[in-house]
Amino acid sequence: MSDQSRLDSTPAGKVWNFILLGAPGVGKGTQAELLTKRFGAVQLSTGEVFRAAKKLPVSEQTPAIKEAISYMQAGNLVPDSTVVAIVREKLHCPELHRGLLLDGFPRTVPQAEALSDILNTENIPLDAVLSYELPIEQVLERLGGRRTCPKCGASFHIKDRQPRVKGICDQCGTELIQRDDDRPEAIRVRLETYDRKTAPLIEYYQKKGLLIRVECGETPQETFARTLQALKLA
Ligand code: ADP
Ligand code: ZN
Repeated sequence: MSDQSRLDSTPAGKVWNFILLGAPGVGKGTQAELLTKRFGAVQLSTGEVFRAAKKLPVSEQTPAIKEAISYMQAGNLVPDSTVVAIVREKLHCPELHRGLLLDGFPRTVPQAEALSDILNTENIPLDAVLSYELPIEQVLERLGGRRTCPKCGASFHIKDRQPRVKGICDQCGTELIQRDDDRPEAIRVRLETYDRKTAPLIEYYQKKGLLIRVECGETPQETFARTLQALKLA
């Protein structure tokens, strides 16, 4: 069955289970928020899970989490076994009857295989894998200019999405920072890792007939509109 014909018979009020794929910096996180609002699904962003763990007092960090944080700071992937264990635990959750949106997971073929087992066990059918595409120059621009609020997680850009007061979070007034992994050296590592380990998932899900490509627009709203069109919901 082709990507699109599978969606043609979508009943209204359907529960959606999605994966979002795409290089760092394409804006998956923002799309994840918009999709979650629209569909009421449960969102699981593994990057957020690790950033939240990093804020815990060191005494509460398990050895696996400490190790994960050190990989993350350098821009490297956290080992599959650690990520899969976290996702397995989080997906064992009654709330998932509302639907599921995975952002940042899976990121390797072994993670995708582990996910397929977990979804079978939890009886969750995967509907679509949205693959967000953006030229590399724009990816570099977005990541290098991104500034993040260390307190509430809100994200800004020095050119494209400036806060009302320079360097200060609109939502909570905290001073914005550049994420460790948005520094040039870590960006290089992340993009290389994406090409080597994550990009093969595009073909992996295409073969399964689940892949839907979305070209990123100029604004998050434009990209969201394209997403709904690609899902035949607009
Ligand atoms: P990005 O902005 O690069 O898309 P995320 O916010 O999704 O990044 O994740 C930040 C970091 O957390 C990654 O660079 C990686 O170190 C770690 N991480 C998140 N998800 C995974 C995963 N599925 N497998 C391995 N590492 C992960
Ligand atoms: Zn804030």
